[in-house]
Amino acid sequence: MLTSSTKGRFFLLIGGLWLLSTIGVVCALFWPQIGRKYEVQKGEYCNENLERLFEAKQALARELNWDPSRPQPPVIQQLELKDLAPYLRRDRLDLSCPSGGHYQIRPLLDADGEVVPPICDHAKSDPDANGIDEDSEGLHIHLRSHLQNSDTGLYYRDPGLAFPGDPQTTPR
Ligand SMILES: [Zn+2]
Repeated sequence: MLTSSTKGRFFLLIGGLWLLSTIGVVCALFWPQIGRKYEVQKGEYCNENLERLFEAKQALARELNWDPSRPQPPVIQQLELKDLAPYLRRDRLDLSCPSGGHYQIRPLLDADGEVVPPICDHAKSDPDANGIDEDSEGLHIHLRSHLQNSDTGLYYRDPGLAFPGDPQTTPR
């Protein structure tokens, strides 16, 4: 015969198992949304990084005031993050993509003397496997260099801008 304390423990065990299985079901239901939300946050953080890099490139370009008809020196063609350091806020010197993407920041200017938007190589990935790349969803991109399709809501590169070194310019 079960004592009342054994019964109590038995019901506590059943209650605990029930609670655990409920938590498990809820997590399984919402995990994709939670995971996606986290991915979106990382992508938006990356957008901000690319904006900081773009602003730093603009500042350097203003200072150089380079005539685009003259041959471009290495600081323009082979621009590196360290060249932008004086134009970045101190707390933003360690710019890295939170999703592990790599930034392509060179060159500084295109053939017309316009500042070239920086690129994150994670933009071409599709972590939620919905057939739409991150960049089309407006993530891991320099937003101001992109346009949004008013019908689909998807982002694409501004066709009026050059993205030297990365030929992927197909609009969606
Ligand atoms: Zn990124």
